[in-house]
Amino acid sequence: MEGLFAYSHDGEGLHRAVDPEDKQAYVYAMTFLPGAPRIFACFDQPDLKAVYRLTVIAPDDWTVVGNGAAEQTAPGRWTLAETLPLSTYFATLVAGPYHSIRAEHDGIQLGLHCRQSLAPHLDKDADELFEVTGQCLDEYHRLFGIRYPFGEYHQAFVPEFNAGAMENPGCVTFTDDLVFKAQATDSLRATRANVVAHEMAHQWFGDLVTMQWWDDLWLNESFAEYMGYRVTSEVTRFDDVWVEYAYVTKPWGMAADQRSSTHPIASNGAADAQKALTDFDGISYSKGTAALRQLNAYIGDDAFLAGVIDHLTTHAYGNATLADLLAAWEKASGKDVRAWAEAWLRTSGVDVLTSEVRDGHVVIERVNGSDVHVARPHAFTATSFDARGTGRSEPVVITEATAEVALELDPDGLLLPDSADETWAKIRLDGASLSRVPQLLPKIDDPLARAAVWGVLREGLLDATVAPKLYLQAVEQALPHDTDLAVENILGGPRKGAIGAVGTFFSATDDRQRLATVAADLVDTAPPGSNRQLIAVRSLIELTTDSELLRGWRSGETTPEGVVADEDFRWRLTRALSGLGELGLDDIAAEAQRDPSSQGALHALKCRAVLPDARTKDAVWAQIVSDSELSNYELYALATYFFRPDQREITQPYVSRYFAEVPETDRIRTGWVVEQAVALSYPRYAIDAETVTLAEQALARDDLSPGVRRSMSDATDDLRWALASRAAHARD
Ligand SMILES: [Zn+2]
Repeated sequence: MEGLFAYSHDGEGLHRAVDPEDKQAYVYAMTFLPGAPRIFACFDQPDLKAVYRLTVIAPDDWTVVGNGAAEQTAPGRWTLAETLPLSTYFATLVAGPYHSIRAEHDGIQLGLHCRQSLAPHLDKDADELFEVTGQCLDEYHRLFGIRYPFGEYHQAFVPEFNAGAMENPGCVTFTDDLVFKAQATDSLRATRANVVAHEMAHQWFGDLVTMQWWDDLWLNESFAEYMGYRVTSEVTRFDDVWVEYAYVTKPWGMAADQRSSTHPIASNGAADAQKALTDFDGISYSKGTAALRQLNAYIGDDAFLAGVIDHLTTHAYGNATLADLLAAWEKASGKDVRAWAEAWLRTSGVDVLTSEVRDGHVVIERVNGSDVHVARPHAFTATSFDARGTGRSEPVVITEATAEVALELDPDGLLLPDSADETWAKIRLDGASLSRVPQLLPKIDDPLARAAVWGVLREGLLDATVAPKLYLQAVEQALPHDTDLAVENILGGPRKGAIGAVGTFFSATDDRQRLATVAADLVDTAPPGSNRQLIAVRSLIELTTDSELLRGWRSGETTPEGVVADEDFRWRLTRALSGLGELGLDDIAAEAQRDPSSQGALHALKCRAVLPDARTKDAVWAQIVSDSELSNYELYALATYFFRPDQREITQPYVSRYFAEVPETDRIRTGWVVEQAVALSYPRYAIDAETVTLAEQALARDDLSPGVRRSMSDATDDLRWALASRAAHARD
């Protein structure tokens, strides 16, 4: 049987990318949902596992890696070792003039690969990557007692990759954004280590044992995410990743679980692959992680691991269901895991935990967050902080509506349920504690407890129970004393859909000005050359309207001591000045000539998208809605920077055009890319009832594709929250 398939440019199927810097071409296969049939004939379902034998003919100077160990048999001829049984969505092939670095750990051949133009940057970090890889392999071997089964372990950093990474057995593919050309903040390094650990966990859970059908896809992700955080924090130098979870991953899932599109962690049957893909969200990753932590607390770590090992051993190289895993956990623990699963996995919604003092006793109440009655048990720590920020903690298990806690509320202190961020709930402080947050927060030593307090403020902001005024006051008074992670995520804006301070809620000019002042103070006080300085400088560039300052930094005349004036720094300044209308197309073109790299090309697109010039906006818009030739990354660059908080007037005509034209983009683009682009190009700063009406009219159409509907509906929910907050809290 013969087949001929075209290369793709949207990151799915066999993607071909040309590096603009040296014109070298690279390919990689992404068969994940639903890409496999774009490369080979198959019934694309996870329970049809087969072995794969590949021979590859490629240009002589190319390197080839894949699921099986690749051997070059003649110039340009490669044979890949026959694989173990794999689901269709794991088949991959990475080929091109890749730069490769090889090593060995505990008898396992390791490889790192990236395109030539990134070679020096991968070389620089290879030791760190191999170290983390080795540490994680050792830890999984120790935890599971099952050796890594798939032979060699390659990690290929590939261009224009849609996801963070993909767990193909033997050959994990990563976005090459994770090869750091620009200066990387500490948290970006930690994130990369966490992604390495996450993908490696899948080699056992997901790859060795695979879900029977797509409706258990969440289980792969919840498990890998939980193990990724656990292993990264315990065996690598990035021991604060649970704090990162609190700032980045948790808000992503909390928001998802409060939108109208929310769904149980364990969905009740994805009819097809497309539907499964839209449910592959913050709930799978973030809430699933929290649920597994709660399960671990419920049955104990020994039983948790014993159940997993039983599951992996019984179903090795085959498929299994959630029911199989629950049975294994029940056998290992002797506890009723099914009832636990019913409450945590089969219902959606976020419980609210409130604290108050009744007759001198601290009482925590659980308010059911689901639309059906659920007795969802929570195990967590509560801490009472005194006026000096010293805490006294007590473990709490709440199974009924309320639990009394053996703690006292200091008359000038703060009582914080879930102070170690162990459960999945919105925390509402008593009124007195809440009002003291701006003063007390800097006095609390524990970074995780502080992250939990910021979580209280963020979730309260989103559901209109915390006034934006109080949140801003906390940012001004407490943030300068907090960790780099806090500064980066609160000032630095939305990541992963989490709403940061510079997002929708604080898009008004006055608010941005106040945030810019906080950033400017941080620039002044951060040690030169520090991670904190890097974060503060980037935040200020994003927030300020002081074009003189930006010009001075760009010319090098007033660049703060310790700041590395690399291409990334110049591009950020160029983008900010373009957004203010201080630079034009010629300046952007000149900059692109200075930096002909792929990163430079994307930066140039972002600069063009932010130009407050009617003709350019129109041209950019036309590209977003009708240019099928754009690569996925080019499209995201334009979509992200089209609507800006300070450009409401010039972009106003595109609000209605968004709802009329963007739904049609599924005719020229597919799957993941459509969903991403619809979300990124949403008119999120047009916070008024009219936008909601337009959105509702668009969503009433019955011909929207699932990805378009999901992204549009989610962004509209976020807009409704911002409107509700405005209605509830008059600003002065
Ligand atoms: Zn994953």
